Amino acid sequence: MTLAELRSLERDHVMPTYARQPVEFVRGDGCRLWDSEGNEYLDFLAGISVAQIGHCHPALVEAVTEQAARLMHVTSLYYTEPAIRLAERLAKRSVGGKVFLCNSGAEANECAIKLARRHKAGGEIVVLEGAFHGRTMGALSATPQPAKQEPFAPLVPGFVVVPRDDPEALAAAVHSGTAAVMIEPIQGESGIHPVPGAVLTAARTACDRHGALLVLDEVQCGMGRTGWLWAWEPAGVRPDVMTVAKGLGGGLPIGACVAAPAYADLFQPGDHGSTFPGGPVMAAAAGAVLEVVDDADFLSGVRARGDALRGGLERLGVANVQGAGLMLGFDVPGAAELSRRALREQRLVVNATGPDRIRLLPPLTVTLEEIQDALGRLGALLA
Ligand SMILES: *Cc1c(COP(=O)(O)O)cnc(C)c1O
Repeated sequence: MTLAELRSLERDHVMPTYARQPVEFVRGDGCRLWDSEGNEYLDFLAGISVAQIGHCHPALVEAVTEQAARLMHVTSLYYTEPAIRLAERLAKRSVGGKVFLCNSGAEANECAIKLARRHKAGGEIVVLEGAFHGRTMGALSATPQPAKQEPFAPLVPGFVVVPRDDPEALAAAVHSGTAAVMIEPIQGESGIHPVPGAVLTAARTACDRHGALLVLDEVQCGMGRTGWLWAWEPAGVRPDVMTVAKGLGGGLPIGACVAAPAYADLFQPGDHGSTFPGGPVMAAAAGAVLEVVDDADFLSGVRARGDALRGGLERLGVANVQGAGLMLGFDVPGAAELSRRALREQRLVVNATGPDRIRLLPPLTVTLEEIQDALGRLGALLA
């Protein structure tokens, strides 16, 4: 089927929720993608921070195919080892406690929201301006962006919004009726904006004072993306609840909500659940991704290559480079058109998050040579 035929079929049969770029990808390997016409691309988006260890990493392919051939699904009504081992690893490598596995970032946040309401019945949830926590009704209610929320009102009640950069405003919004404060340590969807350390510290203090849960959404900034397994680590602010998804499965849908020991048993049987979570194939995939990412040398390599990418962007003269590790955004006028030209003229995959913002989220396995190559292609576009 030609791309033109595919596009016409899509127009007729797929709900028009996405403004897709006119390219059909058919193969991936590491940081490279190939389209249906045989063109090779450099991927600096990784499926929005999902292909964390590159496309079709041999260890990931092997873990998935081996498990797929053995057992794919029985539901959470029965024991399966990959899911329980994954829960152990996620908890031990973050805040201890216990894990609820799910299928996506929005679901991980739904779990956190329900956990917060279990913790404090009817309690409010404080969120930051510019945040993105997902598209389901609960997660959407935590995503204070009018264009996304307004068509779907009424939303879930009880969400309170404070500015992203104002520790005093955050502290003032938390009181005895607050069930949780929910923060992405580095806002991703808004174009890569780190939340100031003072805001994270203020949130930790306010939550401690008023018995609220600090929920950190690591869906995009976690799993080694910043050169730390979790973005909260260098800030030194430990969450009570952490949500993970995107890169966790390296390309397969899996998410997790981790609750620290004090909150690990808030849910009782029947409080929450879903059919697919922790499926053996998804859990095996996540195990394989963690095997690569959860390694001190690998993570310091991410920091070093992140520094190289940041330095290169600054030398290109683009404005307002922000982020950490291999999660970087920058300002450029006409970002949407630039991302289209990057794809078409330079065979470089990048993402425009707004009219003047580009974000880069390459696979964490990207090499220095590939970073120099991408910078060269960006430089040609900006010239
Ligand atoms: C993508 C994202 C989500 C939603 O995840 P989905 O898997 O798309 O539901 C939630 N939080 C953050 C920070 C994200 O980047």
